[in-house]
Amino acid sequence: MPSASAHTDEPDHASTPLCPSCGSPVVHIDTSVEVKYLVQYALIMRDLEVLAEQLGDAAWDNLTPAACDACGWSGQVGALRCPGR
Ligand SMILES: [Zn+2]
Repeated sequence: MPSASAHTDEPDHASTPLCPSCGSPVVHIDTSVEVKYLVQYALIMRDLEVLAEQLGDAAWDNLTPAACDACGWSGQVGALRCPGR
């Protein structure tokens, strides 16, 4: 039985660089998330009580600001070498 090598879970640092300047695999992507709160006025506490909160989509596109701590590079997600999610 031939050994299949399709299953590769090993981290391959060399093939997943992000920073276009130094190749660091770790970058910041600055997005903002919209949070929707459902609140009610609680008579006992005389304050607003949060009943539920819902996070909006935290997505980014090629124009989202990105930055690298390792070398100080800053630009946009579209400039990253591997702008996948
Ligand atoms: Zn960098």
